[in-house]
Amino acid sequence: MPDAMPSTDPVPAKPQPLLVAAARGACPQCGAPTLFAGPVRFASSCHGCGLDYGQFNVGDGPAAFLTLIVGAVMVALALTLELKVHPPLWLHVVLWTPLTVVAVMACLRVAKGVLLTLEYRNKAREGRLTGQDQEP
Ligand SMILES: [Zn+2]
Repeated sequence: MPDAMPSTDPVPAKPQPLLVAAARGACPQCGAPTLFAGPVRFASSCHGCGLDYGQFNVGDGPAAFLTLIVGAVMVALALTLELKVHPPLWLHVVLWTPLTVVAVMACLRVAKGVLLTLEYRNKAREGRLTGQDQEP
């Protein structure tokens, strides 16, 4: 008999696909959408399971990388529009400026979510030498 009642268990039966989880801002441990406190700022911890997001470090790599990629795509789209339609200059400013900001923030949110989820799933930590703390 299929289970007609939705589960109230905060722990999902299996992990969500990586991009789906990242796009939803899902906690990598319980799946609740609590990963972000702002548009691209991580929350301090999960409200559902208490996982401390401060222990993860995704760095600033995604920001520079995504800004360059999104910028190249936007320039290509702007050049294509200019060559095909020849719109006035003000239309370029009104169209591409907010579109670029929204695209960078959306991609950055997904990229940061992917990196944090991968750190959690792979138990990634800073490298340590074995026996580093032991004195002979
Ligand atoms: Zn959680």
